[in-house]
This record gives sequence, structure tokens and C-alpha cells, in this order.
Amino acid sequence: MRKCEHCEKPIPPETEHYHRQEDDEHYCIECLEEVPGDPLFFLGGEYLGDSDQISHVESYDDDYEEGAE
Ligand SMILES: [Zn+2]
Repeated sequence: MRKCEHCEKPIPPETEHYHRQEDDEHYCIECLEEVPGDPLFFLGGEYLGDSDQISHVESYDDDYEEGAE
């Protein structure tokens, strides 16, 4: 089951979330703070990456399949 790297809450298929390409980690929308503009992403006040490293995946763009990992 895919889960948030930070709070370990499950992120089921077709769920809006954040994905960091570098280490293929996923974060729920409650954990990551998105600062509009560039945009920049923060986890608990700590800088995690910019839009080159982290993508905001909309629920309709989430093609994750249960059991694929
Ligand atoms: Zn989380």
C-alpha cells in the first residue's frame, strides 16, 4: 500500500498527493505545504524541493494501481 512518507497515512489510488521523483516518495496533501509562485514545497516548515523535484498529482492524474509496487 502506498503511503505518505511522513505521516504514513495510506494514499489510495486516485488521490490528490505530492510525489518526489528523486527518491520516488509520496506525501499526502496535509503534510506538504505548497507555496504558490515557483512553487516551493515545505514539509513541517522545512524546505523539501521545488517544482522540478516535486509534482502535485491531481486525483484524476493519479494512475497508481493497488499492488503495483
Ligand atoms: Zn502525510
